Amino acid sequence: MAFAISSNQLRRDGKPVTSIPSPYTDGALPSPTRFLVMHFTYGASARSSAEWFQSKANKGSSAHLVIDRDGSVIQCVRFDKVAWHAGKSTWRGLSGLNHHSIGIELANWGYLNPAGTEWKTYTGLTIAHPHMARHKNGNPNGVKGPIGWEAYPPVQFQAAVEVVRLLVEKYGVEEIVGHDDVSPDRKWDPGPAFDMAHFRSLVFGGRADSDGVGLTVDVAEGLNLRTGPGTTFPVVRLLPSGTLVEPIERDGRWLSVSVLNAQGQPSQTGWVHDHYLS
Ligand SMILES: [Zn+2]
Repeated sequence: MAFAISSNQLRRDGKPVTSIPSPYTDGALPSPTRFLVMHFTYGASARSSAEWFQSKANKGSSAHLVIDRDGSVIQCVRFDKVAWHAGKSTWRGLSGLNHHSIGIELANWGYLNPAGTEWKTYTGLTIAHPHMARHKNGNPNGVKGPIGWEAYPPVQFQAAVEVVRLLVEKYGVEEIVGHDDVSPDRKWDPGPAFDMAHFRSLVFGGRADSDGVGLTVDVAEGLNLRTGPGTTFPVVRLLPSGTLVEPIERDGRWLSVSVLNAQGQPSQTGWVHDHYLS
């Protein structure tokens, strides 16, 4: 997948991405645009959220982009216009981040409710393999320990990395923050399932995390890269011994990873068993 930006519109593989324009915009964003705010939609799909941003029933919310779980992207607001994604918010002495930031939504259900041994969305959908964590600002339901959050699929995370990298380059973004950073008393997105430190390090060109984790495939016959955390998930391809990967998230002994190419850039994502990494 190859993204590009032209006339403040995102393009992919030479064509504009799907556009579902939202009327909830304001004047021009300053140039450079210093900040970029990451969100989750708390919803079923990128399309359902983009349609909500367009709908008359909506009293006024929007975002520049919505990225779906499969990595597809919908644009709702031009990048040079203010979108209404941050609401009451402050950061680095500025208030009202809508006027200082690009807003990116990730299709995601956010925090889940316990139901026996399962975790369910507020709409009653069961989410398998939730990310278990306590929110850094305290959990929305006040529970002290870890709760379930919908995980972000590697393909969605990777699409976000590539799109945001481009936005940083094009609009001079200095800092990426979460909605839960700029509105900490009332927002939980993108939440603990989103590895912000890793995201920033990938976007800003660093190969390694702040904690320097880069792992190498260490098994002569190679290691299967799979679509999910377990041997029941299909094999994407065989990673030869010596392939360098960067972990994105962990599920037991399974790691979702970015596979790095010869230039040290992420080229593909998937899941591997950690026994064969060193
Ligand atoms: Zn938000």
